Amino acid sequence: MKVLKFGGTSVGSVENMSNVKSIINDGTKKVVVLSAMSGTTNQLVLISNYLASGNVKDAEVSINNLKQNYIGVIDDLLPHADLNKDVKRYVFSVFSNLTAIVSKPFSEGLGNAILAQGELLSTYMFNSYLKQEGVRAALLPALSFMCIDEFKEPDMAYIATQFEKTIKDSGDADIYITQGFICLDHVGEISNLQRGGSDYTATIIGAAIKAEEVQIWTDIDGMHNNDPRYVENTKAISHLSFDEAAELAYFGAKILHPQTVTPVRADSIPVRLKNTMMPDAHGTLISSKTSEKGVKAIAAKDNITAIKIKSARMLQAHGFLKKVFEIFETHKTAIDMITTSEVAVSLTIDDDKNLDKILGELEKIASIEVDKNQSIVCLVGHAVVNDRNTYKLFQILQDVKIRMISYGGSNNNISILINSKDKINTLQKLNTYLFERATA
Ligand code: ASP
Repeated sequence: MKVLKFGGTSVGSVENMSNVKSIINDGTKKVVVLSAMSGTTNQLVLISNYLASGNVKDAEVSINNLKQNYIGVIDDLLPHADLNKDVKRYVFSVFSNLTAIVSKPFSEGLGNAILAQGELLSTYMFNSYLKQEGVRAALLPALSFMCIDEFKEPDMAYIATQFEKTIKDSGDADIYITQGFICLDHVGEISNLQRGGSDYTATIIGAAIKAEEVQIWTDIDGMHNNDPRYVENTKAISHLSFDEAAELAYFGAKILHPQTVTPVRADSIPVRLKNTMMPDAHGTLISSKTSEKGVKAIAAKDNITAIKIKSARMLQAHGFLKKVFEIFETHKTAIDMITTSEVAVSLTIDDDKNLDKILGELEKIASIEVDKNQSIVCLVGHAVVNDRNTYKLFQILQDVKIRMISYGGSNNNISILINSKDKINTLQKLNTYLFERATA
């Protein structure tokens, strides 16, 4: 069986839902994972933030606006009187629950319950739409099987057993629809797989059922070799290895949740990225096949903080780095890049929630310099560290101030840290010299 995930735009209008129906309705059984309709999760985050800050009035206005959007979509999507009535009843109950929540004391759990409503709404509506169109569909409640442990990792054994049970309980169907993004945590509270997490839901299910393939359908024709928001003439990459895709997803390619390939790589289950608006385009195939050597794509990750830790105590001493790492570990902050010299170590983090606490502890053992607004630009490709083109990197970027470089940590990735104000220029230059002129 295949698992197909459709993003927010794919379920964002009647026309797009009809496209999705044509894509999935080919007579073979499949699991369909849906995101919330585009814009919904952002609105729910806003509502949750209003409530967290005690702004009940704006929360109520936003809840009401969102409800009106849904009523409009239902009337367009479901002319069938009974289904229209049933879906409206469901949507009204979701929104009256949200309105009731407003007067409760805010907690993280409540915030997560609010964020979960987008996927619950989109799947309920889409399931009814498929029924109206005569497709044999069934709704699988993700909260019956999708679960993360105390380290926020998917509990794969539980998910596999519960998914099988949930599918059995749902009765026979051709299309099994389920919610992306949402899950239960280890104490049974509603939680989620972080923003963009529906991709991750799809590959977790793919691994649990040993799927033939996982397809991620979005509104772009696959993973591009550079960021199309800043660079002209980017191209879709036809094939990526799991390693390359993982590096790109982690280092900024917005099309995929960073963890997407993790669950499926051990079983070599291919992941195909496709465009709902151009279903015949090849897209990008991610598989265990090794690619040709060389730079395949460039990606950038923003909002990076660089920390330089300088101490004479490092000189010919051991145990200093251990102390440094322990401080980050205590504050549950992941380190992305790291470079060292005899008397200093520079490293980067992207989550600066606990920065003040971290700095407070580091200052006890070293002198510290902090640079915010940095970007990691990363060149990804099979054996990229040994590629001839890579040596041109410094020539191409001779006028860009490089703050750090990471070379050789993995064969597939070279990362440089620059000030974010230089990012667009850097991406464009690399594109011109590594892709356009190289192939001209
Ligand atoms: N709806 C969630 C979000 O906007 C999850 C997803 O779309 O993948 O982040």
